[in-house]
Amino acid sequence: MITIDDKIVRLAAEAEAELAERFKAIDDTAFFNQKKVLQAFIDNRVGTANFNPTTGYGYDDGGREALDRIYAQVFGAEAALVRHNIVNGTHCLAIALFAVLRPGDTLLAVTGKPYDTLEEVIGISGGGIGSLREFGVKYEQVDLLDGKPDIEAIKKAVHGGVKAVIIQRSKGYDWRDSVGVDGIGEIIAAVRQVKPDTVCIVDNCYGEFVEKTEPTQVDADLVVGSLIKNPGGGLAQTGGYLAGKAKYVEMAAYRQTCPGIGAECGATLGQNRFMYQGLFMAPHAVAQAVKAAALCGGIMERLGYEVNPRPADSRSDIIQAIKFGDKEKLIRFIQAIQSASPVDSYALPLPWDMPGYRHQVIMAAGTFVSGASIELSADAPIKPPYVCFMQGGLTYESAKIAVMHGASELLK
Ligand SMILES: *Cc1c(COP(=O)(O)O)cnc(C)c1O
Repeated sequence: MITIDDKIVRLAAEAEAELAERFKAIDDTAFFNQKKVLQAFIDNRVGTANFNPTTGYGYDDGGREALDRIYAQVFGAEAALVRHNIVNGTHCLAIALFAVLRPGDTLLAVTGKPYDTLEEVIGISGGGIGSLREFGVKYEQVDLLDGKPDIEAIKKAVHGGVKAVIIQRSKGYDWRDSVGVDGIGEIIAAVRQVKPDTVCIVDNCYGEFVEKTEPTQVDADLVVGSLIKNPGGGLAQTGGYLAGKAKYVEMAAYRQTCPGIGAECGATLGQNRFMYQGLFMAPHAVAQAVKAAALCGGIMERLGYEVNPRPADSRSDIIQAIKFGDKEKLIRFIQAIQSASPVDSYALPLPWDMPGYRHQVIMAAGTFVSGASIELSADAPIKPPYVCFMQGGLTYESAKIAVMHGASELLK
């Protein structure tokens, strides 16, 4: 039963009143991005033939080729690679890293430790089999300073051996600020000041369409993300994309399939329509999610929890972090979010050893596409200070109901 406490109804109304201006800005961004996406569809003459499934080698799959061009246009990039058989964001980031780095090169992370699942890819943790480290790629890191990129330290850390830097836009599972597109541009400019040919790779997961520009428009070489997050608009069933400079997208295509084949093969098996329609829906879906995140922050802050970002802050990703400071409350909130989801509402999420993560993770994802976090989801590594990361919501209303239900549970 969805139950909403009267007090939460009041707090939600207060939060929405506080957020009126912010919501207008979010709508304005959605309008701008929708126009960009629609124009790319029109310029590339999308027709129903683009959705025809191919099998086997997938030669001359016009739908696949046009979608690559559409992503490139939307991201203001020279080229893009969009594939349903990139299994998730981690795989997509691994493609970018292995595409660019060679034995003896150094990868420099400039926004602190990268997302948890990249540790095994890089070889920071895990057995190291198949990792960059096993291939002789070195790793160095510049930590954030008070949660923000440390530009001076980044300049000092870029040396002749640094082939590539990785910049993470979103906070991931950390209590830190997300780095906006302007901030990413500053980092890239600083890196290029020291070593102009450094390959700048951006982990764009959760960031797409939250702002009017993307990191590709501030000189990033390769920008990477998952299609079951923002750009898949809730309809893409699986997949990932890379967008950026043509040279690096080609190297990524060679890594994703193999040298000589690159982007020219790959049957789409009927996935195109979901990827096209998902991209079409994405600016709106992202706006719904950003509003839901802000509302969640507004309600939880009024209940006395520390939240990041603050409700009316401008945002660069769809994540709302809430510090519970208490394991039981954290778990109860996440379970309540699951119980107010359209799919698997009867399931009770419990902490588990999720592949690729160091701590146990609890995850509410009552989603149509398994684990899709552009749909409402809430997850947390089980470690102090017990921070919940809530994101997504295909409709503002459904996310609002779930958040109000979750907050009501905390009052019990
Ligand atoms: C989701 C995410 C990833 C990739 O995770 P997958 O679950 O493999 O898609 C990488 N970086 C960040 C910041 C993310 O949010």
